[in-house]
Amino acid sequence: MHNIDIDLVEMTLDVMKYAINRITNVSPSLGEIKKEEELFEMVGETITPEGIGGEKAFQLFRDVLVKSTVPIDHPRHLAFVPASPTRAAVMFDLVTSASSIHGAYWMEGAGGIFCENQAMKWLISLTGMPKGAFGVFTSGGTAANLSAMVTAREHWRKQPANTGRKGLIITSVGAHSSIKAMAKVIDADVHLVETEDRLTGDLLLNEIRSLELEKRQRLFAVVATGGTTNAGIIDDLSGIADVCREEGLWYHVDAAYGGGALVADSVRHLFNGIERADSITIDPHKWLFSPYDCGAVLYKDPSLALEAHKQEGSYLDIFKDEGASGFNPADYQIQLTRRLRGMPLWFSLATHGTDKYKWAVERGISLANIAGELIESRPEVSLVRPPSLSCVLFRREGWEPARYREWTYKNHKEGIALVTPTLWKSEKGYETVLRFCFINPDTTEEDIRLILDTLRD
Ligand SMILES: *Cc1c(COP(=O)(O)O)cnc(C)c1O
Repeated sequence: MHNIDIDLVEMTLDVMKYAINRITNVSPSLGEIKKEEELFEMVGETITPEGIGGEKAFQLFRDVLVKSTVPIDHPRHLAFVPASPTRAAVMFDLVTSASSIHGAYWMEGAGGIFCENQAMKWLISLTGMPKGAFGVFTSGGTAANLSAMVTAREHWRKQPANTGRKGLIITSVGAHSSIKAMAKVIDADVHLVETEDRLTGDLLLNEIRSLELEKRQRLFAVVATGGTTNAGIIDDLSGIADVCREEGLWYHVDAAYGGGALVADSVRHLFNGIERADSITIDPHKWLFSPYDCGAVLYKDPSLALEAHKQEGSYLDIFKDEGASGFNPADYQIQLTRRLRGMPLWFSLATHGTDKYKWAVERGISLANIAGELIESRPEVSLVRPPSLSCVLFRREGWEPARYREWTYKNHKEGIALVTPTLWKSEKGYETVLRFCFINPDTTEEDIRLILDTLRD
């Protein structure tokens, strides 16, 4: 396709210019999401037999389409889990694409896989997992959770009594939606402990003890959360590790969002026990400043992942060759052909050093605490619970759910901020509340005040 007759140099310059402008624009417009018909009205049909030309297509993207997206790195985008990829990582994402490397097997991707593995070694060191532990980068937390669950289930089914048995996973209400979704993929059932607050070893043990025998026999794994998506709550990882050991269960820690905080000295102790996990999910595209998409799955014993995931085929036999020997990422997760999506993280880590990551994550935690203090100092808002990691849940006194939604749309429309409501489950039932999640270290106290000001009458 390289020979297609376009002015490649000019096109490349246009694209590079756009990329440079975008990554140096620290506070782009918050974007306005339009309906598909409206967008079609504005750009028309773009795929035609003759092509509309790169210049035209790029212009449509730059001047129309990208404006109907939300820049997730905006300092006042505090909804869901935002992101804030470093410039080094974004630029290296371009390099990753330009390099056209197949990331499945060492035979083809050695130098690139070496980069990924350097970054992985650092992730492993953050967790404190024992010698021999290792992992791979995935498309995200969902794929990482799935890869870990497949590994756990295959390991469990090696026992003759479990062959063909439908598995059961135990987790809590605070767990991420992907756990239930991926349990469907592997046709396992999920038993939920009815708490959105911290899951403790005692709670878990009580729940396991109260399972009927048939369910207990199908139970093969526990999923604890290292930083719930909704509230930043870290389960009792050490207590849960004890229970898993005593009960002979696979121990998975989903730290897709919270895993980045392993680098932060101020909260690291809250994760004690994570080093005893059989598998861990961490999303570098959440709190480790990587561009989308980049997740990671870490295993205490990677040979179990290899048994579960290695694909066999005559066309793949060559990869067993001596000359091809090395680490094959395809063998440890669900995907075969894969982008070397750990490379941008590697380049950014190599560029900035790990201390910079420590600083940037600590900044997110400080911002949550600053927001907590500001909220407490204002009469019209109150904290639902103390800030945890970089999440803050708070309420606007006297507001019904509809008011929260209107407020969200209005602030987005006016380009002030994107902050969305969520539900918090307490003994009193579900309450609609507001939620901040801080990732971008460039968010300021002024940004927070500006948002809180819009909650006054
Ligand atoms: C975001 C998240 C996931 C899903 O990760 P994706 O990268 O969106 O697939 C899983 N678990 C937790 C705790 C998360 O916060």
